[in-house]
Amino acid sequence: MQRIQLSEKAKNISPSLTLSITASANELKQKGVDIVAFTAGEPDYNTPEHIQEAGIKAIKSGITRYTPAAGTLELREAICQKLKNDNGLDYTPEQIIVSSGAKHSLYNVFQVLLNPGDEVIIPVPYWTSYPEFVTLAGGKPVFLETKKEKNFKFSISELEELTTPRTKAIILNSPGNPTGTVFDLEDLKELAAYAVKHGIIVVSDEIYEKLIYDGLKHTSIASLNPEIKELTIVVNGVSKAYAMTGWRIGYAAGRQDIIKAMSNFQSHATSSCCAISQYASCIALTGSQEPVEKMRAEFAKRRDYMAERVNSLPYLSCLKPKGAFYMWVSIEELIGKEIKGRKIDSSTTFADILIKDAHVAVIPGIAFGADDYIRLSYATSIEQIEKGMDRIEKLLATVE
Ligand code: PMP
Ligand code: GLU
Repeated sequence: MQRIQLSEKAKNISPSLTLSITASANELKQKGVDIVAFTAGEPDYNTPEHIQEAGIKAIKSGITRYTPAAGTLELREAICQKLKNDNGLDYTPEQIIVSSGAKHSLYNVFQVLLNPGDEVIIPVPYWTSYPEFVTLAGGKPVFLETKKEKNFKFSISELEELTTPRTKAIILNSPGNPTGTVFDLEDLKELAAYAVKHGIIVVSDEIYEKLIYDGLKHTSIASLNPEIKELTIVVNGVSKAYAMTGWRIGYAAGRQDIIKAMSNFQSHATSSCCAISQYASCIALTGSQEPVEKMRAEFAKRRDYMAERVNSLPYLSCLKPKGAFYMWVSIEELIGKEIKGRKIDSSTTFADILIKDAHVAVIPGIAFGADDYIRLSYATSIEQIEKGMDRIEKLLATVE
């Protein structure tokens, strides 16, 4: 049995820290430990009632079989309509693929795009799974560092410096996880011009489109002109906007040959995604959008409160995020200091001290490529935010 070894691919893959830390925090809670969890990358709301009902109706009426690999025509048509209404984008159902979450759509994109050694530019901090998607597809992630002073945005000259003949794609995530950065129209125009000039694919992850604040409006880079539309793969889903993380429905829109390849790939990997969830997602996209706005307005209030609390504390600071539901908190001033005899040498150590000594669970910044940050999710009630921030404040009073 000794000679049976895991593949090199399997040996090199680490679990998603966002998911594993969230699961550990939930486990502690279930054991009765009073944990305040700022970990979850998911709305704390239930799926709206009318979407729940649609799921039940699907089960009762026998919508319980395999669907076409790329998704039901009904849902793909609803997605086309959504992309037209919200983003001014014209796609046909053949240019749409429905997958088991936006994560799965992104996984598929890189599987069909990359040859060994192809490079993908990933701005840092990044959502934890991006580099893994690229390496799992045999590609090479190329990291583009961004800074707080520039609102975690990058300039085209910085991008040009990293561009080589092997550059195949760049990942754009606006509104972004973990920083909440939103790219404005000017940023997008410049990025589009760069991509068109070099013939580089833009993988545009727009999953947080609906969670955007301060009166900002989301623009899809694909909508700027026909040339960039041809080079963009728009990725979105129902998880965040409709509190449907567990239903596992995401989608991608783009050039028909790319989408067809993804569908071929998916037909062998998962057949299709859950028929019941597809039916309910159709209702989510075509039904009342009121619950989305209610949830967004609530997140905006929590964001204001949490940002104020973070910035009133010693050692910690953050920018007020423009979108999504995460606070990207600098712990730079804490590095090298001690809490209860433990030296804070990394985001992992600080996150460990926070959960053990303050019973507050956070995600260490290293999961997103930045070891001098932690990520706090404000997808939890104001009461929990208040309690968690009080605990952090108390802990920070013991810093030596
Ligand atoms: N992109 C980003 C930036 C995310 O934070 C998430 C959250 N998991 C996803 C994509 C994927 O979401 P899902 O697979 O639930 O659609
Ligand atoms: N996207 C969420 C997060 O960043 C959910 C967890 C995951 O899928 O990674 O926390």
